[in-house]
Amino acid sequence: MIDEKFDAIVVGAGMAGNAAAYTMAKRGLKVLQLERGEYSGSKNVQGAILYADMMEKIIPDFREDAPLERHLIEQRFWMMTDNSHTGLQYRSDEFNEESPNRYTIIRAQFDKWFSSKVREAGALVVCETTVTELVQDAYGKVIGVKTDRGGGQIHADVVVLAEGVTGLLGTRAGLRKIPKPTEVALAVKEMHFLPQEVIEQRFNLKGNEGVVIEAVGTISKGMTGMGFIYSNRECISVGLGCLVSDFQASGVSPYQLLEKFKSHPSVAPLLEGSEVKEYAAHLIPEGGYNAIPQLYGDGWVVVGDAAQLNNAIHREGSNLAMTSGRIAAEAVFQVKSRKDPMTAQNLSLYKKMLDDSFIMKDLKKYKDMPKLLHIQSQNFFLTYPQLVNKAMENYLRVDGTPKKEKQKLTMKSFVSARSWAGLFGDAFRLARAWR
Ligand SMILES: Cc1cc2nc3c(=O)[nH]c(=O)nc-3n(C[C@H](O)[C@H](O)[C@H](O)COP(=O)(O)OP(=O)(O)OC[C@H]3O[C@@H](n4cnc5c(N)ncnc54)[C@H](O)[C@@H]3O)c2cc1C
Repeated sequence: MIDEKFDAIVVGAGMAGNAAAYTMAKRGLKVLQLERGEYSGSKNVQGAILYADMMEKIIPDFREDAPLERHLIEQRFWMMTDNSHTGLQYRSDEFNEESPNRYTIIRAQFDKWFSSKVREAGALVVCETTVTELVQDAYGKVIGVKTDRGGGQIHADVVVLAEGVTGLLGTRAGLRKIPKPTEVALAVKEMHFLPQEVIEQRFNLKGNEGVVIEAVGTISKGMTGMGFIYSNRECISVGLGCLVSDFQASGVSPYQLLEKFKSHPSVAPLLEGSEVKEYAAHLIPEGGYNAIPQLYGDGWVVVGDAAQLNNAIHREGSNLAMTSGRIAAEAVFQVKSRKDPMTAQNLSLYKKMLDDSFIMKDLKKYKDMPKLLHIQSQNFFLTYPQLVNKAMENYLRVDGTPKKEKQKLTMKSFVSARSWAGLFGDAFRLARAWR
């Protein structure tokens, strides 16, 4: 049992929790961080791309000793059918800058490093400890936590809920609802190990350069979802995720989809001869702006995935998690500095600061996107990728058919799949949700 009272208790040591605990401890607050895993990162799953700008705002010189894999110089987007893909590719030497913008990382290593910084900043970090309950006073104010170690209650002025996507603690305490199956994706991921030089050869890389491939199409069988391939130093992360509601409706298992993705003729050669050493599955919040719950209350704030702060359209999550953790910590620090109580009214500062940040601006911008992609999933994730690939094949195959006839054939295949009104309708809805 810990007898002291803390300024803040942080539940969870993922990106959001570490950012919050680090920022508060660095500002001199007395912080206790509780993590159920054996160590920070042991339970956490990510592709994983680290966005340096957001990390720099927490630890400016993180590049000096953080475990980074490769900095990204190239992004490929693939629209796939079962035996082909049409790609869009951006590669730039500009990304070989002195302080690169995006890196691949391995979360188990990165979180462990981040946690060591939290400890150095002065927070008390206790792992292998699950918070089982939020302690509330007679007025419903959160005043502390109980853990599976027994020993009664631990008290703090404020509890920062950084417990990840399922957010069981907050939902059990009635602070928010359990995310709906239409609001979360289930992703599975494998780590394929290969010698460094083989990875560099296969992806056309040198030194620490890295590539990301993101893919949609028949690989998700018409479900809202995507596949990814990330190059690390000595391994390749390959994974795929779709909305839980779509998995429920289709009866397809994520593992079957991943096997199919890996055996695709465009993917298999990249993985050939590799040794799989890790397999992981995790949920991703994908409900966007409309799924964000109440973010603060008397004695508590919620950050990161637990607050559904995830930009699925741009595949950004960890940066929203660490930024919301940092902002929540700064808000707590301001309230504390004024010697004000941690009431909902005072903690609403966190929401105001979040509204002013890129997080809420981006999520608000795409607020109609998750619903649109879900309702039109057959079109966007099955029909259109097939049509685009067919059109490419038709365009490239030289078989004596006059070009005019080929064009007609392509147009005809689009119109027979969707009427002109349907095609324009989808384009219009997509443009409106994207604007
Ligand atoms: C397959 C996959 C690929 C992804 N790729 C990317 C990517 O490339 N880039 C990107 O930016 N984002 C990506 N994301 C999203 C990103 O991983 C998340 O947005 C991010 O990890 C959220 O951080 P968090 O701290 O909120 O939650 P988490 O990282 O999930 O951390 C929550 C922590 O809380 C702990 N915890 C939970 N309950 C309790 C409790 N009761 N008591 C104590 N501890 C508790 C957990 O053990 C965990 O350590 C990906 C996600 C997945 C699943």
